[in-house]
Amino acid sequence: MAVAKKFEKLVILGTGGTIAGQASTAQDDVGYVAGALSVQDVLTSVPGVQAILGSVQLISEQVAQLDSKDMDAHTWQALALRVRHWAAEPGVGAILITHGTDTLEETAWFLAQTCGVACPVVMVSAMRPASALSPDGPQNLRDALVVALDPRSQGVMAVCAGAVHAARHVRKAHPYRLDAFSSGETGVQAWVEAGQVRWQHAPDTTTGTAMSLSTPQPWPWVEVMTSHALAHAGSVDALVAAGVRGLVVAATGNGTVHTQWVEALQRAQAQGVTVWISTRCEQGQVVRPASDVCAWGTYTDLPPLKARISLMLSLMH
Ligand code: ASP
Repeated sequence: MAVAKKFEKLVILGTGGTIAGQASTAQDDVGYVAGALSVQDVLTSVPGVQAILGSVQLISEQVAQLDSKDMDAHTWQALALRVRHWAAEPGVGAILITHGTDTLEETAWFLAQTCGVACPVVMVSAMRPASALSPDGPQNLRDALVVALDPRSQGVMAVCAGAVHAARHVRKAHPYRLDAFSSGETGVQAWVEAGQVRWQHAPDTTTGTAMSLSTPQPWPWVEVMTSHALAHAGSVDALVAAGVRGLVVAATGNGTVHTQWVEALQRAQAQGVTVWISTRCEQGQVVRPASDVCAWGTYTDLPPLKARISLMLSLMH
C-alpha cells in the first residue's frame, strides 16, 4: 500500500467507547464497561499495525475514557483542541479518534464544524467490546489506519464494518449489529476492502473553521423535541421556563408540527428562544417552496441531532 509523502506521523486520540470496552467473560458482548481500556491497550490488540504504517510514526494520546452516551462539553472542547494542536504539528498527516458508537455522529459533526484542520480526521469505533470472543475493534482500527493513510482522505470521517461515512451523513442506525452505521440515501463514502480504499463519493472536505471554544461553559442549552401524536404544549413551555436557549423540532414528515405545539413554539420564539425545524424522518430533508418562510422557526436541512449542534454553535458565537 502506498503511503502518502505528507506522512511522518499519525496521531491516535482515545476517548473510550466499546472499542475500549471490557466484560467479565468473552461470551458477554452486551454487559461490558465501555472505555475500560486505554487507547494504547486497544492498539496493542491490533495485529500488523506497523506493517500498515510503514515508516509512519504512531503517536497515541488519551483525551478521555468514557462511554460516549455520556459525552460532555468538556470532552468535546478538549478533543477539538487536541485535534487542532496535533494537526498543526509538523509531519502529522492524519488524526484517528477512537470513540463510542452511541454519539459518534454528533462528535463527528461537532469536529467537522469546529476544527478547521487540513488533515483527515478518522473516527473509529466498535460494536463489541475488546474482550469479546470475536471483537470487531481490531479490524475496524486496521481499516481506519488504511483510510487515514489514503492520500485522498479529507475531512471528518467514520470507519466501521468496512464502510467509510462522512460526518455530514453518518448516523447510528442499529443498536446491536456490527454494521451499525448508515449514510442513508447518500450512501457510504468509501469501502475498505483488504487494505484498499474503494471510493464511492469524493471525500467531504468540510472541517469547519477553527472557532473559539474557550467560551465559558455551560454552552448554550439546546434541546431536540420530536413532534408526535398527542403532543402536549406544556413540554415546550416547560423547557422555555427552565431556560432553554434553542429548540430543534424533529418535525413530522416534511417539516409539519402538531398544532398543539405551534402556539407554544411561537411563545418560545417571542421569548428569545431560537427554533429550528428539521424532520424526524430518517432519510432526506425538509423540502419547502422558496417563498415559504415560517414565522416562528427556521427550516434546516440537517437531521435533528446535527442541527442541535449547529444551533448550539451559532448561539455560542
Ligand atoms: N455505549 C457505547 C459508547 O457509545 C457504545 C459503543 O461504543 O458501541 O461508548
